[in-house]
Amino acid sequence: MPTIAQRLREVTQRLEAACRRRGRDPRSVLILAATKTRSPEELLAALAAGIRHFGENYVQELLAKREAIDKAGYTNVSWHMIGHLQRNKVKYLVPGVALIHSLDSVALAEEIEKRAARAGVRQPVLLEVNLAAEATKSGVSPQELPGLAERVLELPHLDLQGLMAMPPYSEDPEDSRPHFRTLRALADSLRDRGIPTENLRHLSMGMSGDYEVAIEEGATIIRLGTVLFGPRG
Ligand SMILES: *Cc1c(COP(=O)(O)O)cnc(C)c1O
Repeated sequence: MPTIAQRLREVTQRLEAACRRRGRDPRSVLILAATKTRSPEELLAALAAGIRHFGENYVQELLAKREAIDKAGYTNVSWHMIGHLQRNKVKYLVPGVALIHSLDSVALAEEIEKRAARAGVRQPVLLEVNLAAEATKSGVSPQELPGLAERVLELPHLDLQGLMAMPPYSEDPEDSRPHFRTLRALADSLRDRGIPTENLRHLSMGMSGDYEVAIEEGATIIRLGTVLFGPRG
């Protein structure tokens, strides 16, 4: 079995090659380790290999692993929430997470605003878009996206930084390409409506099976689990 460090080297080479194909700077793509079900020991191995950004799907798991990593003495680690977020869990995450990728409703935005205001912070967020209208997935519809974006910009303790999406699962990474293009086009159309570029600077898209395609289509954050840690048990 390859180590996490070996896997990260392979990913980094593929990332750099995808950037070269598009004339992009490799430093414009952030590798986020998607760590659901992974143990604190696996996270420590990822830290030793140079990973500094972790994304969790469940609030309790994020809090538990953050505590374990804090105890191990790491201070420069960023925690991201990438799973569906319930309103009643926001109080455990704000303040304290670098980026919430899964903001998908006005009600959730208002709850994050309330908690961030109380803590005196501005909370970075991405809007999650449900590109293929999948009933099993969260995310705002493309039709509702502009209204949500405009509302979020009115909330002074939210710091909108872009969009996130997860295309329907497929074995073939090329199947994801049109969805990645759609997400990028949605960001462009928000820009055309007057949403500032700085609020659209991130596209969080691409996972183990399709991150190279995502980079070709403009991803700035790729969320990787299996390709870094091996199959989930
Ligand atoms: C699990 C997960 C990932 C990573 O999935 P892999 O296919 O293992 O790379 C990325 N994003 C989200 C939201 C996830 O839940």
